[in-house]
Amino acid sequence: MNCSVFRSLQDLFFPRTCFSCGSRITEGILCPLCLRQIRFIRPPVCRMCSGALGDGTAVCRRCLRSRPAYHRLICAAHDTEPLSGLIRLLKYRHYDFIGEFLSRLLVRYCREQAVSFPPETVAVGVPLHPARRRERGYNQTALLAKNFSKFIHISFRDDIIVRLRNRPSQTHLSIAQRRKNVQNSFIASKRAKGKTILLVDDIYTTGATVNACSRVLREAGAGDITVLTVARACPEHTYGGKD
Ligand SMILES: [Zn+2]
Ligand SMILES: [Zn+2]
Repeated sequence: MNCSVFRSLQDLFFPRTCFSCGSRITEGILCPLCLRQIRFIRPPVCRMCSGALGDGTAVCRRCLRSRPAYHRLICAAHDTEPLSGLIRLLKYRHYDFIGEFLSRLLVRYCREQAVSFPPETVAVGVPLHPARRRERGYNQTALLAKNFSKFIHISFRDDIIVRLRNRPSQTHLSIAQRRKNVQNSFIASKRAKGKTILLVDDIYTTGATVNACSRVLREAGAGDITVLTVARACPEHTYGGKD
């Protein structure tokens, strides 16, 4: 059976629908209308937190006061529907093709914003807690990092940073204790030494996790670190907050 016949039969028995509104589509995972609802982040934004900026500065006052351990952060879009729904599906269900879609969206955004990565860059995902990884069967951030690296021809590694198990629950801890808790959750390998790192996460919320990862990567001797996330959850950030 040739490809187009197979595709029309597949569409007949399993019609494709938009993941957000359920309307019929012929390709992709969102209808054109829902696709247009994705709110991409437009410059000028702070190069450390992607928060809106007035013209003429590169880093916002908050980030100047409390400088993150990474060198640059890029968030593609605001954490609103239909993007938030897609990220939830990627996190809690085995929808690998959503990971591919979101990675392509990151590629498109980086191209539009003229963001490039040197060929020696190594992409890594923010490691998931081992128990959660076991429960989910995969790490969605590693999936994003892997797809993205493939599309832009850089390498991907999953042995550069790991998350430790059995950290105490965050809920009863003060902000300072939480920061320390997150800070002590990761270990970077000696393999990070001298590497240009692209750290990929799904959502930027407070920055505590990506900052903690970046700190251990730098302690292990990593060079330039760029953080890349699909979505940005809040207009402001506070390190050590809920993450
Ligand atoms: Zn739709
Ligand atoms: Zn900032």
